[in-house]
Amino acid sequence: MRYSGFRVFLEGLRGNSGWGPAWRKPDPQPAYDVIVIGGGGHGLSTAYYLARNHGITNVAVLEKGYLGSGNIGRNTTIVRANYFLPGNSEFYSHSLKLWEGLETELNYNVMHSQRGLINLFHSDGQRDAFARRGNAMLAQGDDAILLDRDGVREKLPYLDFEQTRFPIYGGLYHPRGGTARHDAVAWGYARGADRRGVDLIENCEVTGIAIEDGQVIGVQTTRGAIRANKVAMVVAGRSSQVASMAGIRLPIESHVLQAFVTEGLKPCIDHVVSFGMGHFYISQSDKGGLVFGGDLDFYASYAARGNLPMVEHVMEAGMTLMPMIGRAKVLRSWGGIMDMSPDGSPIIDKTPIEGLFINCGWNYGGFKAVPASGWCLAHLMATGEPHPVARRFRLDRFATGHILDEEGTGSQHNLH
Ligand SMILES: Cc1cc2nc3c(=O)[nH]c(=O)nc-3n(C[C@H](O)[C@H](O)[C@H](O)COP(=O)(O)OP(=O)(O)OC[C@H]3O[C@@H](n4cnc5c(N)ncnc54)[C@H](O)[C@@H]3O)c2cc1C
Repeated sequence: MRYSGFRVFLEGLRGNSGWGPAWRKPDPQPAYDVIVIGGGGHGLSTAYYLARNHGITNVAVLEKGYLGSGNIGRNTTIVRANYFLPGNSEFYSHSLKLWEGLETELNYNVMHSQRGLINLFHSDGQRDAFARRGNAMLAQGDDAILLDRDGVREKLPYLDFEQTRFPIYGGLYHPRGGTARHDAVAWGYARGADRRGVDLIENCEVTGIAIEDGQVIGVQTTRGAIRANKVAMVVAGRSSQVASMAGIRLPIESHVLQAFVTEGLKPCIDHVVSFGMGHFYISQSDKGGLVFGGDLDFYASYAARGNLPMVEHVMEAGMTLMPMIGRAKVLRSWGGIMDMSPDGSPIIDKTPIEGLFINCGWNYGGFKAVPASGWCLAHLMATGEPHPVARRFRLDRFATGHILDEEGTGSQHNLH
């Protein structure tokens, strides 16, 4: 069924009786050409682009919970292409271009809103670093504008420009940055993949990976064994656990990242704003809630919830930057398990096991990567060659020293 304004109108007239399920609920088949483990944003987009770009439709996505139950539905929804290093820069630039056509492509309203992102700086040194980053963005063909203090005040008059501890010197403005509704992205890709014949199998946990003579031959699951000669591990925070089923030790640590949302307020923040002197970033959802987050909790964990010291840190940073936020009531907070790589950049690669692929290391930033990540992993699986914009996301770069130290964050951000 095609979604359209006319369809909404028609269904309104006939009591919404004509809507069908957005995707099927098939039982697993004994064998597929490709198995994608993980029904998050990256797994679903991989399946979608395998079908859409390469005509490979005999594909199963195996998800241990329900589609979108992982980080894809837990993030703070920021979409941007403001990376600095060659390797990352062209990849995120490609991703943003895919975002810009995504709603038409998927025939699904993912509420992509290019409201502009402003990264604040608070010292001369930080200004220099952001000017360099802005130049790199322009050189890549993306957009960046360096704002001085008055330029920031004009756009964000509600910030505290009087506080002297971290005075606002200016900001790097990325007009094409913004937000999207995170779970709609999962649903849109799921629906698109399903329509092209992909089986989306929920409540199906992979418990083992079958390997024969160095070649993957399938997986064991809670719903039985399934055969495939190509298997992709796309499980974000669970990457180390799943890779260990194939005897692979990954350079990944899993850490908790928290996020928060307030009660609905009248529109007051119309950009995405990121504080430069504390890890704090904020935007306002279409429902009116202020959505914000901060840094990792800084201990490795598989618990999808966080602890109070980071809550206090995030609230303090918010109050420093915009004291008006102190009057809003926080409604909910939650955590997600982040797949942190040592250099803060992702991995999209083959593994030493023939037919077994890995997609992980998305750190804090994998939501914006969803379209390009699926596009590039599908390319690698279909052609055997890395996509040009993802060729540096190699698994062996930590052994060879070709790291992509984007922000020096890595899994132990506090140690840098
Ligand atoms: C609080 C928070 C804020 C964030 N903010 C942003 C942001 O503003 N912008 C941004 O770009 N990124 C952000 N991120 C990061 C982003 O959400 C992640 O990098 C990205 O969603 C990870 O990829 P995914 O969607 O495929 O992961 P997930 O949705 O976690 O998908 C992985 C799936 O694998 C499944 N799985 C695991 N093990 C198995 C198994 N054995 N068998 C079957 N299935 C399995 C899981 O159930 C899960 O559904 C944020 C993350 C968090 C937690």
